[in-house]
Amino acid sequence: MEFKFLMPTQIHFGEDVVLKNKEVFSALGRKALIVTGRSSAKKNGSFDDVSKALTQTGVEYIVFDEVEENPSLETIEKGSNIGKKNHVDFVIGIGGGSPMDAAKAMAVFIKNPEINIDNIFSAGKLESIPVVAVPTTSGTGSEVTQYSIVTSNKEKTKKNLGQSIFPKVAFVDSKYTFNLPYNITVNTALDAFSHLVEGYLNTNSTYMSDIYGEKGFELFKYCFEKLISKDLNKEFRKKVMLASVFGGKQIAQTGTSLPHGMGYPLTYFKGLPHGLANGVLTIEYLKSFKDQTKIERMLDILGFSHLGELEEILNKLIDVKIDINEKEINEYSNSFFNNKAKLKNHPEEVGLEDIVGIYRNSLLKS
Ligand code: NAP
Ligand code: FE
Repeated sequence: MEFKFLMPTQIHFGEDVVLKNKEVFSALGRKALIVTGRSSAKKNGSFDDVSKALTQTGVEYIVFDEVEENPSLETIEKGSNIGKKNHVDFVIGIGGGSPMDAAKAMAVFIKNPEINIDNIFSAGKLESIPVVAVPTTSGTGSEVTQYSIVTSNKEKTKKNLGQSIFPKVAFVDSKYTFNLPYNITVNTALDAFSHLVEGYLNTNSTYMSDIYGEKGFELFKYCFEKLISKDLNKEFRKKVMLASVFGGKQIAQTGTSLPHGMGYPLTYFKGLPHGLANGVLTIEYLKSFKDQTKIERMLDILGFSHLGELEEILNKLIDVKIDINEKEINEYSNSFFNNKAKLKNHPEEVGLEDIVGIYRNSLLKS
């Protein structure tokens, strides 16, 4: 057995971890850039906790609260310019995956003034100033991954920034998700689930990464029941947050696979939220496997006796009505088929017709 497992992020999980560990902030510097979305962080208590912790430890801060969903390189450039002008020592991303990913990207731009949104993708390996991540969705797992997924309007797609930016510290407190609306809870949970699935059924999966996958499926057995019955109690919030962290730790080792790569055009061109875009493709992706052995193990942990039972659950949670035609499916498929890195993560040989089939069977169902 041989594997590598890298997880440099210090994780604080539990109630009030931000205020209980506030000295973490002052150890990172004297001035911080808080990066967040337009409003949710100010309503769910995360922004208050962080600003209180900073004030109590004598750390100055500036706020950039203009991060949109699926953050664009232009927004990232705007935020980094503010960070550079104010000579910040570190960045704090508060919110869902969008603000956390934007914070990570800004941390790279702030550290490397010669880098801009036109030369970043050919820049090679870059360092960043430290990042602290505070998730408020469950989720992307971005608080424990090295990825920063950005929207390139020039290339009309979403893509990984291509740098390794593990947050130095993740403060994971499920109380910030207590009032997350049902639809966002479902969409983001589907993202966490898809990380667990795509990391588990991945060319790069290892004995060690599988442990997180299997523990995550165990948690999802409970979480699916609660999502279906709409009983989103505190126990559910804690468990789905933990499952999201496990999914993040897992894809940090393996990368994602077909649904993530195929979902990006559905988000860019059709406006489907990220988790929903993965979720809607998941069943057909699973059906496309010639070797179902590991899928059967996954279903067993989830408490299902066959794939149809998972399909039934996902059908209840997912209601996607998008206007899409064969021509678009062919365009998305061709473009995805050129993404050799994602295809490499899929453990079986896959042809263009398989990709077309997954899109078609997932989206053109009558
Ligand atoms: P998001 O785009 O960060 O946020 C979606 C919406 O949820 C926003 O309107 C946000 O409002 C709101 N929201 C966030 N927390 C809330 C709360 N506690 N209560 C109420 N509303 C809340 O959603 P996300 O699904 O977490 O992130 C998606 C992004 O992450 C995508 O760009 C995806 O590609 C990326 N991603 C990254 C990784 C990675 O490893 N880096 C992995 C998977 C996905 P505000 O705008 O007001 O905050
Ligand atoms: Fe994702």
